[in-house]
Amino acid sequence: MKIAVISDIHGNLAALEKVLIDVESKHIDKIVCLGDVVGYGARPNACVKRVRSAGITCALGNHDEAAFSPRNDQYFNFTALEAVQWTRGRLEPESLGFLSCLPISFEIQDCLFLHSSPSNPAAWLYIVNRFDAATEFDTFPHPICFVGHTHVPRIFKSKSPQKKMIVNVGSIGQPRDNDPRACWALFDSASGKIEFHRVEYPVRIAAEEILNAGLPPLLAERLFAGF
Ligand code: ZN
Repeated sequence: MKIAVISDIHGNLAALEKVLIDVESKHIDKIVCLGDVVGYGARPNACVKRVRSAGITCALGNHDEAAFSPRNDQYFNFTALEAVQWTRGRLEPESLGFLSCLPISFEIQDCLFLHSSPSNPAAWLYIVNRFDAATEFDTFPHPICFVGHTHVPRIFKSKSPQKKMIVNVGSIGQPRDNDPRACWALFDSASGKIEFHRVEYPVRIAAEEILNAGLPPLLAERLFAGF
């Protein structure tokens, strides 16, 4: 089974559309999303609609949760909170209904899929480096756990004989690894092979939408550099 794993769309419709075209060209069997469909970008409702129409299985992200719950507001920085509040004010009832029903994690063929960390998925912890990853491997029984959240694509491997992996699939809508192209991962469950794919998209469109919406200009600027 070929699974396209996408994450952190963040209301960036221009990037999502280009990635879905790329995904389609690879003849995959299933698309899954690891959360943060909304937040930061100017097209949250359109992104939710596209995720739904494409039949994408989706997990809850911290920005998705923030759209319907203020419980983590104190953890967002000023710019992020401004975007959260902007998003809250514009989400349509259908979008809110979709986001509020997303599961915190799901399993497909022995693999675990979630937004942040397997040890406590609802705490929105970040697995940034191998030291963070080392404390996570014993907290899930699956051979592979796919995550998003940091917007930096990376594979962490355990040193244990089971050779577990934590795979961060990067971000579609706001990459932060100094590469502005949208990122997604192709997982072939038969061979176990994981490939990262980068997709160019019209960054200018997404940036102009952010500026025209009155969102913080930094959220537009960072898209050009991928930080
Ligand atoms: Zn995110």
